[in-house]
Amino acid sequence: MSILMIANWKATPDSLKVAIKNISLISKISSPGVSKIICAPFVFVPLVKQRSLIMGAQDVSVFSEGAHTGEVTAKMLFSLGVKYVILGHSERRKMGEDREIIKEKISRALSAGLAPVVCVGEKERDSDGEFFGFLREELHSLFKGVPKKNLSKIVIAYEPIWAISTENKGAIDPHILRETLVFIRKIMHDVVGNKEASKIKIIYGGSVDHRNAKEIIKEGGAEGFLVGKASQTPALFEKLLKSIR
Ligand code: PEP
Repeated sequence: MSILMIANWKATPDSLKVAIKNISLISKISSPGVSKIICAPFVFVPLVKQRSLIMGAQDVSVFSEGAHTGEVTAKMLFSLGVKYVILGHSERRKMGEDREIIKEKISRALSAGLAPVVCVGEKERDSDGEFFGFLREELHSLFKGVPKKNLSKIVIAYEPIWAISTENKGAIDPHILRETLVFIRKIMHDVVGNKEASKIKIIYGGSVDHRNAKEIIKEGGAEGFLVGKASQTPALFEKLLKSIR
């Protein structure tokens, strides 16, 4: 089974010229056993159409079509060849996106044929373990009622907000990650049933780079990564990809 490497370019790069150059550079990186999914800003998404890369997007409209100025719909993305879409990222939640909206977007993405990469993660780790309750609620409310036939398309990105590189706290300890992923898998068993839950991929995001990626897979048990900073510079991305060969 190949490792998912989902690059979240966020609002970078800031020119077409650099986007073309970066895509060309990363398309040449050899990474056997790794699926390289590039989630570029909407305007650069079509440039990602390269044989060695998979097209992704960073968000999708909550609407299916119609009079919604500025929106990009799931069907539009699918028609471009996009396969994955990041949903529920903490940076979008900060802009006001709530669980109801995310749930609606999951449904739009699935109906259009896109695989949603749904971000879940606590703001902080409290010593009483209250974050477990938060994760349980989050998973129940986002995935309850998703049609069984679509569950194998879902990717859960466990991304503790405190571990994102902008917080400067570093990545999660791989052993703690393993515990948390087991917990997430168990909750998903409760939400969708054993057979279905085992089809869902669970990846990790938060300060992943060439120094920690291998351990995150080996000790942490993640099935892939959601990567921000280390995916936005081709040289760093190459180091990261080589580190997990
Ligand atoms: C992210 O924001 O999705 C992310 C994983 O960022 P970083 O890798 O920079 O921590």
